[in-house]
Amino acid sequence: MYEVNADDDEVLARLTGVHRRRGAVQALEGIDLTLPAGQVTALLGANGAGKTTAIEVLLGLQPADAGQATLFGRTPFDGDAKARVGAMLQQTQLPERLTVAEMLALVRSWYATPRSIADCVALAGLDGLMSRRYGRLSGGQQRRVQFAAALCGRPRLLFLDEPTTGLDIEARQQLWRAIRELVAGGAGVLLTTHYLEEADALADRVVVLDRGRVRMSGSAAEVRAQVAQRHVACDTHLPDAEIASWPGVQQVTRTGPRVAIIARDADALVRRLLQADAALVNLEVRRAGLADAFVQMSAADHDREAA
Ligand code: ATP
Repeated sequence: MYEVNADDDEVLARLTGVHRRRGAVQALEGIDLTLPAGQVTALLGANGAGKTTAIEVLLGLQPADAGQATLFGRTPFDGDAKARVGAMLQQTQLPERLTVAEMLALVRSWYATPRSIADCVALAGLDGLMSRRYGRLSGGQQRRVQFAAALCGRPRLLFLDEPTTGLDIEARQQLWRAIRELVAGGAGVLLTTHYLEEADALADRVVVLDRGRVRMSGSAAEVRAQVAQRHVACDTHLPDAEIASWPGVQQVTRTGPRVAIIARDADALVRRLLQADAALVNLEVRRAGLADAFVQMSAADHDREAA
């Protein structure tokens, strides 16, 4: 029933039409998701969109009510499939009294061919922490130990549920480097994050979940292109209301002489601005980041719901 198809050999895990109810909430409503080897897939979505539920179904921590979840072509409840997975979840409980060195030794003992301690330390940035008790570490340091625990069994597929929450900039960059190294070695990664620049920086594919459904998927660039938004700023005396009345202008905000405009077509907007105000200065145009795109989608939802 769970055989791997010949053309599927690079697909590590898959959700097909998965539904999952949590209490009164339909947490997943017919989700399709494919996790290929050698790629980072970023799962984005507002709080409660269903990201953790999707991961837990793929990890066999909860069943699908309908549809099918497969891990290495098998059911996610299969022990051999689970052994090839590493996971760093939001609520990870590790023994507080163990030192980091003892913890790594314990987790490594679960695997036949674990990653070397030196590699775990280097990848997770644990230098100087090995003799410290886990329970006495800062939140960010504990997150790094959890990352080391997730990768020390040489997983083919790594689930990272908001891995950089609470990490400082340096630790976050270190984790990004480690993820890139693991993926270059052929691992697949499913990453959920609220730091949208993280998806921009890391993800080969972005899947946007919205109330249990896949709302959008593609490369980070494709997701941005779908919302096709540009930010234009300049110093101008033109009235805000006049700019706001032009076609394609979505938002106008002003701070003193400087006006910030969100528009669909930056070229047309810039031409019109320069025509209307010959004294206009300090013109700046930038592409919307994924963060802006995401906020725009959520705002559009609220507008539709309010209408
Ligand atoms: P976050 O970004 O906040 O982590 P998420 O996208 O991971 O959110 P889930 O944790 O998958 O979202 O939750 C999806 C929905 O299921 C939410 O509406 C949530 O309230 C609901 N839910 C999750 N766990 C339970 C539970 N144990 N009992 C009832 N409802 C639950």
